[in-house]
Amino acid sequence: MKLQFLGAAREVTGSKHLLTVNGKRILLDCGLFQGHRKEAEVKNRQVLVDPTTIDAMIISHAHMDHIGLIPYYVKHGFNGPIYCTDATRDLSSYMLMDSAFIQMREVEWMMKKGKPFVPPIYTEDDIPPVLQNMVTIGYHRETEIVPGVKLTYYDAGHILGSAIVHLQIMEKGAAHPVVLTFTGDLGRRGLPILRNPEYIPYSDYLICETTYGNRFHKFIKDVDKHFKELINKVIKRGGKIIIPAFALERTQEVVFHLNNLMKNKDIPHVPIYVDSPLAVNLCDVFARHPECFDKEINQEFIENFKNPFGFGMLKYVESVEESKSLNNKDEPMIIISASGMCEFGRILHHLKNNISDPRNMVLIVGYQAENTLGRKLVNKEPSVKIFGDTYPVLADIEVIDAFSGHADRSDLIDFVGHIDGLKKTFLVHGEQNQGLTFGEILKQNHNDLDIAIPNLGEEFEIQL
Ligand SMILES: [Zn+2]
Repeated sequence: MKLQFLGAAREVTGSKHLLTVNGKRILLDCGLFQGHRKEAEVKNRQVLVDPTTIDAMIISHAHMDHIGLIPYYVKHGFNGPIYCTDATRDLSSYMLMDSAFIQMREVEWMMKKGKPFVPPIYTEDDIPPVLQNMVTIGYHRETEIVPGVKLTYYDAGHILGSAIVHLQIMEKGAAHPVVLTFTGDLGRRGLPILRNPEYIPYSDYLICETTYGNRFHKFIKDVDKHFKELINKVIKRGGKIIIPAFALERTQEVVFHLNNLMKNKDIPHVPIYVDSPLAVNLCDVFARHPECFDKEINQEFIENFKNPFGFGMLKYVESVEESKSLNNKDEPMIIISASGMCEFGRILHHLKNNISDPRNMVLIVGYQAENTLGRKLVNKEPSVKIFGDTYPVLADIEVIDAFSGHADRSDLIDFVGHIDGLKKTFLVHGEQNQGLTFGEILKQNHNDLDIAIPNLGEEFEIQL
């Protein structure tokens, strides 16, 4: 039995791990590389395994760095089942369509400008065959996916429908099964909306994400206080608050907190615009999956008949005209828009129009990968390039990192500490220094833990 790391190896994006057992090949996640455009372009097209030789895919959750290359693999001959939870399938349909749409618009834009361009990795036509091959499995439903390999999903508490992949693998000729667990992305304990990540009592091998292996998050209960101070400061001086947020999960979390703040009269009633057609669709998916919520949200939905993702001052902006009209309004408002790392989408127009006005504030509430515009803002660069033009950064740049949907160091140590029997732990999905530091810390906390931080393409033999 072999395990090969084809992405998220000493970096955060492109999650992809290939398990070979009993002559079958199973790909755990099929994520897109993100970050520096040219480098990502090359990496995404450079397929390290022939898609026609893969028998099945197991998907952990619907973030693009975990699902974003599925259409490319299907287009190039992968025709097996794609296992995921029900909510992951519903979210994936919108997420992948949106990704294809953005790629196609970018190519159109380059053509219009007479610039050299490469064709999109996939188009909207490539998405239906992906959805056709998705096979959904609920949490805790043990299912044999290829001969000798049983899959059980546990709640990862990271985004709607996110799952820890738990595999019981009986290799031909072996006396006992090997248990392999892949965290996907692990959520945090005590976050609103979703349940806490579930503990895994036993596993021989673990593939563990380390996005925030070297950090401690602020307490989520401080978010409302921090939010309240910043929003009131900007509204007082007549400015706008621009919040780049992923349409999936972060937007719903921010909306949830703003709803609470307004309900408690902690911030004034200013308009809140969710300017992302994708976010509108995703909020709809949220309403259809009560099996994924924690008790509090279910109470709002089911007992109080209230939708915490839709309230008085909240407006979902769908049309481009409406989006553009926000630029002409010179009044305090909150605009939540995608993409979350400020790489593409309507957020770029809002940044272009607002970043050089000192009354405004850009409020960063999500992870910003290296080389993204979002990271440049966090690094307080004095000016930034948007659509080829340079803009001075005069608006305040503030970061609330308590919003993270990723486990931090204490969550990860706690999660690993609950697993008995670990023979080897592979650290993935973290920038190199996060992985190295976390590896040391993990060894200090859990004696004798055998840790590997795989390089891209590196292969390991897995056995009892
Ligand atoms: Zn994720």
